[in-house]
This record gives sequence, structure tokens and C-alpha cells, in this order.
Amino acid sequence: MLTAVVLLWTAGASAQIKEVPFTQVHLNDGFWAPRIEVNRTVSIPSAFRECEKSGRFDNFALAAQNNGNYKTDVKEHQGDFSFDDTDPYKVIEGASYALAVKYDKQLDHYLDSVINLIALAQEPDGYLTTCVTNKCTRLSGWWGTHRWEKINSHELYNSGHLIESAVAHYRATGKKNFLNVAIKNADLVCKTFGPNEGQIHRPGGHPIIEMALCKLYKVTGDKRYLEGAKYFVDETGRCTDGHAPSMYSQDHKPILQQDEIVGHAVRAGYLYSGVADVAALLKVEGGKLKVEGEKYQEALERIWQNMSSKKLFITGGIGSRAQGEGFGPNYELNSHTAYCETCAAIANVYWNYRMFLATGESKYMDVVERALYNNVLSGVSLSGDKFFYDNPLESDGEHDRQRWFGCACCPGNVTRFIASVPGYVYAYGANGAYGAYGNMPTIYVNLYAQGTAKIGNMELEQITQYPWDGKIQIKVVKGGGKFAIKLRLPGWLKASPLGNNLYTYLDKASNYSISVNGQQLYPELHDYITINRKWKKGDVIELNLPMDVRRIVANDNAEDLRGKVALERGPVVFCLEGSDQQDGTVFNKYILNAAAIDAHFEKDLLGGVVVLDGKAKLVEPSGDINDTRFRAIPYSTWNNRKPQQMEVWIAATPMATRQTPPTTLASQAQTFSNRGPIQNDAPETAPVDSWAGGVNDQWEPKRSSDTSKPYHYWWLKRGTQESISYKWKESQQVKNVQVYWLDFDHYDGDFRVPASWVLYYETEDGTWREVEDHEPYTVRKDCYNSVSFKPVKTKGLKIVAKLQKGLSGGVLEWKVNE
Ligand SMILES: [Zn+2]
Repeated sequence: MLTAVVLLWTAGASAQIKEVPFTQVHLNDGFWAPRIEVNRTVSIPSAFRECEKSGRFDNFALAAQNNGNYKTDVKEHQGDFSFDDTDPYKVIEGASYALAVKYDKQLDHYLDSVINLIALAQEPDGYLTTCVTNKCTRLSGWWGTHRWEKINSHELYNSGHLIESAVAHYRATGKKNFLNVAIKNADLVCKTFGPNEGQIHRPGGHPIIEMALCKLYKVTGDKRYLEGAKYFVDETGRCTDGHAPSMYSQDHKPILQQDEIVGHAVRAGYLYSGVADVAALLKVEGGKLKVEGEKYQEALERIWQNMSSKKLFITGGIGSRAQGEGFGPNYELNSHTAYCETCAAIANVYWNYRMFLATGESKYMDVVERALYNNVLSGVSLSGDKFFYDNPLESDGEHDRQRWFGCACCPGNVTRFIASVPGYVYAYGANGAYGAYGNMPTIYVNLYAQGTAKIGNMELEQITQYPWDGKIQIKVVKGGGKFAIKLRLPGWLKASPLGNNLYTYLDKASNYSISVNGQQLYPELHDYITINRKWKKGDVIELNLPMDVRRIVANDNAEDLRGKVALERGPVVFCLEGSDQQDGTVFNKYILNAAAIDAHFEKDLLGGVVVLDGKAKLVEPSGDINDTRFRAIPYSTWNNRKPQQMEVWIAATPMATRQTPPTTLASQAQTFSNRGPIQNDAPETAPVDSWAGGVNDQWEPKRSSDTSKPYHYWWLKRGTQESISYKWKESQQVKNVQVYWLDFDHYDGDFRVPASWVLYYETEDGTWREVEDHEPYTVRKDCYNSVSFKPVKTKGLKIVAKLQKGLSGGVLEWKVNE
């Protein structure tokens, strides 16, 4: 059944370290194996059900009918996005991985039926994006009036996911039914886009086509696909066809000139993964192409340095901002408003793993491990059927995993990813590979997880309770020979998790130990322990990594993290969640740096986790400080009980704690924002329909650019008239409001104080009237704009703001006084 690539010792010189595919690695541990099984038995079937329910397959059926291939009752194209096709692709990919590990006849047949439908939806020349084939004008904002018209149409993103999925299905089953669909589509893409006359000169828009074409090249050996991937990488930032440069999609300058990671975080991760693939393949080509590949690798290293030393969350997440789903400036690492999309963490794993394969350096695997055990796993519930889109590092209880999303990129992505985790445990470097040990064939043990692996003629077995325990035994079960085994010494054993000054451990780790067949070795603390010998069946390596609880502090430039510590044990980042604290809250506590912390396994909690217990101090509302205790749980397991308070960065001083403030008029109000721009100055005609968060949480802004607190913003609105309103159940007597306007730079629309604004109150007959005898409506930055007016009794207040020409805006906080 399996057609997985089997590595041979005689592979000879190769520029790159090779992955040991997940099909050759079987985990039977207490940590990953249950997650992978839940993914197979719950997440994958439930994701297929959601695809069915939300009309994802109906869209393919309708396209098939429009191609004259099929009959269906489906009348209309469904869903809100031009990239909805990728959801089924991702789930098929995850299901293929699951199939490769454990054959399931029913699943195999189901996939064939779905693939058959997708094949029928493909246009005769290979084109495949259903909303375009179905001429869905409701979505024409995405795709325009004809195929390939708009750079942000996601048609190439659809192609990329189609190819990735088809390659996975082919590798898992050996069947070509889906691969042939992908090849036909890739042929069209490579014919349509390129540097030659008559072709479209444009990069991918939302990357993934680069990675996907490299995969297709590896499977088929057809050079056109490598050339296509290289073209999309080369074309990025050139704007050859006259489109505007865009930081949002890393299309602001050529990759060779980039040195800071910016824009949409998933796009960045996918793009640089694709660049890494292209760079690696070019290096194998030799000559001029090899030099080009090396240049790309250097650019990636520069961008990576910026990401890992200034923009990486301690959970391995990337992307600090909701607006534009992407990066903010250096050191913007706000916990509460952190975006850290699940897909971005997965993209970060893809990119870092490729960087490792290209160099053999363990620092990239440190990022992979950090993202894997924390941000990626947080993306899915322990039950396997609820998902996070964004993964903040702090919550007031407003976050709760959902079964599915209108924009459903994350559930499908985490579903396909979890199934592939065993593939990250080992790697193999042939003679002369970058980072391999001299002339020795080299096995990399990058992650520790109990299970077996077939690598070349060898079979290895790992026995460990990692990540709960640091004792690891690696046995040679079969085969042997002269080669090097490299065991990764994780970043969490060192002075700083990432080898830079973004995060630092406050304490020193205990010593680790290693022996081979009972004989102690004394290697230096390098990135890898290399053991080079003639291995034979029965040899045993014993590695003992100290699982101390370690306190982490952040670089002082990360303003939101000042006075706080994060707790880590092994690769697992911990958090406080309300349920585990005596008084159900977390923000009013601090942990002294000297306080002892006990770690122990709780088998009945959250499916069995190590928890951290210790003494803490509780700041009372009066300011008194009393003794209390705290319990921390793995961050990846938060929100598996109920929505409640949670924090990763815990106060280390009374100053850094936060009290739950007493209720106010504002905090008791329901908040609303208008969905669309108001066409005239009569706000009573505007619909009041969407919830607007953050403005009444009584969290004092530090300045108008303080995005560390929740706030309301009018994304993609420029120069329009927008409103926000408060509604009370009972009439309130009010005579003053204080408004703190949002004002900060963003690549995806600048947010500025408005040009002007007006305050309205709701009269008894439900109409809106401007307040009388009011002070001037000011628009000052970095302070509250206070306006007193003739007192009114009302059930509602509304701010109508006219945004500055060409600019957006928002409100950080809005107080109401009687
Ligand atoms: Zn996503």
C-alpha cells in the first residue's frame, strides 16, 4: 500500500539533510499518540462533516455541473471566501496521512468519491477554483470578472493546497487519481505564469504554490514545476505587471532585499518555506543556480534572525495583530491581543523545519519544538472537535474554541498537521550533507517521543515519557553500521530559549547526562551531542535531560511583558487558568522569583498533564497583600473546561498585577458597531448590528497606540462615517463621556483619530438626537477626550465619527459619567 520513499545508505552526496517521513516513524507514547488518534477518529471526520454542512462539496458539484459533467440540485455557490475550496483539500491531506499510518477501507473509498467530484469540477484545461467556474458574483470582490484577474483572488492558493493534498494522497495510497488532477492544474499554472511574453508576471498573492510546486517536482521529477516555483519566488516584490507593492503579502520588495518579517503571518511562513525549498533545490542544481540558492538562503537567515529575536512569542506563535492577521513592529509581543493564528504557528513549523534541513542547525528545531508543543496544540481542543483561530497568551474569558469558522483555514490545517507530526522526529544526512557529521551518514534525533523508526537499514526505538519526563532511551533494534547519531540538546536547557536576548532564563539549568551501553560520555553543551561509532543491534543510548521548572523573562523592549515571568518545563510553556486557582482569578496574583515550584503529574486532569504548584501572593482590591497558592497547567490545554481568565506571562511584582475593576455605567452597557458606512448624517437610519469589544473593559490605555489592551477598530474603512454605541436595559442619567481614540501606524491601513465626531442619545421613542449644550468634541491623541453636556436620561449613547480622508480609526476606551 505504502509508497513512502525508503532512504538508502548509498544515497551518496546530497546538499540537503533529508526528512524521515512520518510513514516510517510510529509513535506509541502517552503524549502525541492519543492526540494523533483523536485527530484520526474525531477531527478528520468532523472536519469532513463541516465541509459537507457548509456547502464546500456542493461548490464542487455545482462546478462539475457547469462543466457539463454532473447533475446536482445545488443552485447556488456557498461560503464567503474564494479559498473555501482549500478546506476539503486540507482535510483530504490529513486523512491521507491518517490512512498511511492506519489503513481504513471506508475512509479510502470516501476519499475516492470526494476526489472524483473534485476531478469533475476541474475545467478541461486544468483550471480549478469553484467560485470562478460557478461565476459567483457575490464573491466577485475576490476574483473579479474572469480568471487570474486579481492578485489576491487566492486562485494560486487554491492550486497550492490542491497540489499539497494530492501529493500526500499519492504518497499515502500510491493512487494517481488525485495527483493527476493536481498535475493538470499545475501544468496550467506553469503555462500561465512566468517571465516570458504572453505569460502573467505576478507572484502567488497568498503563497503556498511555491512549496507545492517543489513537492510536485520531487514526486514527478518534472523540472517545469521547480522552474515555476522559482519564478514565483523571483517575482515576489518586483511588481512587474504594475500592481502596487504590498507589505501585507511580503510583496513590498524582492526577497533578496528583505531583512524584516512583516505582513500577514501565514503568508510570510508559507512564502519563506517555499523560498527555502527553492533554495535547497537550486543548491543541488549546482553552478549559477547554486549561487542563487545560497543567496536566497542568506536572505532567509536575515529574516529569520529578525523573527526569532524580535517577533516570536514564547509559545512559538507569530503575528501580533488581528488587523491584517500579521506582524507589528519589533518587540510587539502583547499577550492579550496576540493574534498567533494556528495556521501561522504551523507555517512557522514548516519554515523552520526547512531551515533545519538546509543547514543542520538545531536552533531551527528549537522553534519547531516550541511551536509544536504550545501554539499548534493550543489550536485544537483535547476532544479534537473544537478549534482556536487566534491563540492569545492572555484572556479575560472572551476566548472560546469553535467547531468551525466561516473562514475555516485553521481547523483543516491543524487536522492535516497533527497527522504528520511523527515526520519531525528524525532526519537523515548522507555523506557531505550540510550539517552532517564529516563523511559519516548521520541520523538526527530532533524530537523526543516514544516510538519506533525505520531509517535506512536501521530500526531505532525510543522509550521515554517526554515531555513530562526527561529520561530518554534510544535502542538499536535492527541493523547497524558505522555512522553518527546526533541528539538534539534543546534550547530550553540553555541560558536563553532561542540563543538571543529576546527571552532569557532567570536560573541555570541542571546538568544533563548521556551514556552509551552504560558508559558515561562527557560532551560539551553544543547544539547536538554527536556519537560516532559502529552501531550494532542492542546498543542503548541513555539521555537524561533535566526537567527543571524554568522562569523566563522577556527583553525589556517588550513593554507588555515587563515585570512578568513565564514558566516552562522542558518544551512545555505553562499558564494560569481560573479553574485551578483558589479564587478562580489569575491577574491579581504574583509569583516571587524565589518561590519554590513543585511539578507533578496529574493523571485525571486534562487527559493527564504535569502541573506546577507553588506559593503566590494575592493583591486584594484594598491593596493588602496575602499569601495564596497557584497552579499552572500546560498552555496547550487551556480552555478545555470553560471560558475563563488565563495568562502565560505572570506578574512577578505587585505592580504587574491587575485587579478586576468595579462595574461602571460603561462596563454594564452592551456595545455595538455599525456594519457598514452610514450614508448620511442621520445615525438613526443606520443598522446597529455587530458587537464591538474592548471599549468598556476599563483597561486604561497608556497611549493612543496602546494595542496591548482590547480595542475596537474600523478595519478596511477609510474616510467613512462610523459609529459605536452603548445600550442599557434601564434608562441611565448621563452628563459626560470620555473617549480615548486609537491612533497607530499599520501596513494594512493607518488608524488615526477621526476628523470629527458627534454624540447622540436615544430618545424615549427610539430615535437618536444629539446631546445639547455640549463642550467641543475634541480629537486629541494619547488622552481621554472629555465632553460634558446637558444631562439626559437615556437607554443608549452613540458616537458617530467621521474618519479622516483615506484613513481608518477606532476607539480604545469609552467612559460614561452621570
Ligand atoms: Zn488559519
